[in-house]
Amino acid sequence: MDKKGLLLVVSGPSGAGKGTVCQGLIRKNKACFSLSVSLTTRKPRANEEQNKSYFFVNRSEFESLVKNDQVLEWAEVYGNLYGTPRQWVQEKLGKGETVLLEIDIQGALQIKRKFPECILIFIVPPSINELQARLIRRGTDDHAIIKKRLDCVQCELQEIPKYDYIVVNDQLEVALNQVSAIISAEKCRPNRFDLQNYLQLGESTDE
Ligand code: 5GP
Repeated sequence: MDKKGLLLVVSGPSGAGKGTVCQGLIRKNKACFSLSVSLTTRKPRANEEQNKSYFFVNRSEFESLVKNDQVLEWAEVYGNLYGTPRQWVQEKLGKGETVLLEIDIQGALQIKRKFPECILIFIVPPSINELQARLIRRGTDDHAIIKKRLDCVQCELQEIPKYDYIVVNDQLEVALNQVSAIISAEKCRPNRFDLQNYLQLGESTDE
């Protein structure tokens, strides 16, 4: 009876664990979620795969996709361009699926303007110290990049009031349960149901 797909946007500071939360949701409910693969001009990290982690493209390829209206939202983050492919997301939503976007705040706010019914969830770490420790433990970025990412955190936290929900990712299982509860509740909103169709009586058979 779902009228249309649910568009779920997950953001948060680098190291808050938004990627882990999204992967956890998919692991638990494989059939229920589709995670969008973004375009980026960033160089792949050692553990990343082309077309799975990201669509790695160069700047002119990215700009030409934007020019041809094939990018739903895009932003420059830490000196690289990131964007969401339009067609894939729209097809999934058209089929009534739940689509997850793991994107930065600038992109999330663009999506909210285009799809006011989308749900914005902000994932935060339990503390700034823990965030720093996670970035160092992760070992994917050098010291200068970690510093750049930590410098952005205070500004990012100012944007929280623009989000619909905030989830503290201290224990992953607790965070996953909270996000799942948000999704369940959002799916019960009256505007998500095809009430017209639901209330229609079936054709009478006793003539
Ligand atoms: P990373 O380089 O660590 O993979 O991602 C850096 C930042 O870019 C993260 O905050 C991530 O959420 C964001 N990001 C990833 N994909 C997209 C996208 O398609 N659009 C926007 N606006 N941000 C993205």
